[in-house]
Amino acid sequence: MNAQDQVHGQGPLMSPEDMIVVTGAGGFIGGHLVAQLHRRGLPCIRAVDGKPLDQWYQRFPGVESVQADLSDPKECQRATEGAAWAFNLAADMGGMGFIETNKAACMLSVLINTNLLLAARDNGVKRFFFASSACVYNGAKQDRTDVTALREEDAYPALPEDGYGWEKLFSERMCRHFTEDFSLATRMARYHNVYGPLGTWDGGREKAPAAICRKVAQAKISGSPVIEIWGDGEQTRSFMYVDDCIQGTLRVFEGDFAEPLNVGSAELVSINQLVSIVEGIAGVQLERVYDRSAPMGVRGRNSDNTRIRETLQWEPSITLQQGLEKTYAWIYDQVRSGVSDPILAGSPEQRA
Ligand code: NAD
Repeated sequence: MNAQDQVHGQGPLMSPEDMIVVTGAGGFIGGHLVAQLHRRGLPCIRAVDGKPLDQWYQRFPGVESVQADLSDPKECQRATEGAAWAFNLAADMGGMGFIETNKAACMLSVLINTNLLLAARDNGVKRFFFASSACVYNGAKQDRTDVTALREEDAYPALPEDGYGWEKLFSERMCRHFTEDFSLATRMARYHNVYGPLGTWDGGREKAPAAICRKVAQAKISGSPVIEIWGDGEQTRSFMYVDDCIQGTLRVFEGDFAEPLNVGSAELVSINQLVSIVEGIAGVQLERVYDRSAPMGVRGRNSDNTRIRETLQWEPSITLQQGLEKTYAWIYDQVRSGVSDPILAGSPEQRA
């Protein structure tokens, strides 16, 4: 285990003999989390996802990889059997294009977290992590591009993103009450827009950074001078590179703070600025065409990191420029080699 992984002021929580369960492990963040736990040398990892194994972004030799539909209570019992620690990163989700038009599907992810909590309780899991989202925040506090960064208490009074955000807020409450009523320790991170390689970049579920990288790569490869942007491009967000997300997840999990914490970058940019950074990396300048009828989400959103700095002495530090260089390079390779998501991706070792 390297020094970076060590939680401030604490020894490692997870010992080699402990079974660790990661759900959503065939997806983007879950795959990177398993990779990091595997790098730490933890030998007992069970990775679970609903997708067929050959569609997972990352798989590792020695990691038990299981295909299971976790909306089914029996599968949740099986997934958490013998486990000491559980990370729930499974959800039916995607970028704005997906969550605005699939609200029921997003809300049905409540079955995954609820059945996993019940199973974790029954199987004596010692600590449970829930991947929440900045979409829990009150929409009325996100109606300007020069938005005030969101503090954890801004989730209430509740007016979250319709569908996806309500499910996340409800599931946070469920975690809290499992701690209060059943003594199951829970930890929650509110992720703000995570991006990086080995995640969805095409097919309708991709988020803005991946979509912009793909469009710029396609323009560069085809020689097209045009890029289409959703909305007017002035909407603002912060974007967190996946390595920071994994660091933050492990720190939240291993730390003592049991209420939800923002895990997000505080580097606020507009979508137009995001496009300019990717253009700079690719060495192109494209004519921008704006689709004002496309889903855009809230007008502005940023992460206030006061509480995570105070409680865990940490916040994300990878700049958007650094993270996008790696993300663009990976997506460029996917576009160039003609693979289509989700039947991709990465090197043979990553797919093992
Ligand atoms: P992802 O879509 O890449 O991964 C989610 C995985 O969950 C997928 O592989 C999917 O197959 C799996 N899944 C869905 N339904 C399932 C079921 N019934 N049974 C088993 N597996 C199922 O998404 P991600 O970006 O890796 O997100 C991970 C978690 O983080 C999710 O809970 C998501 O809501 C949350 N989150 C992500 C972001 C982000 O920017 N990526 C932001 C906020 C919160």
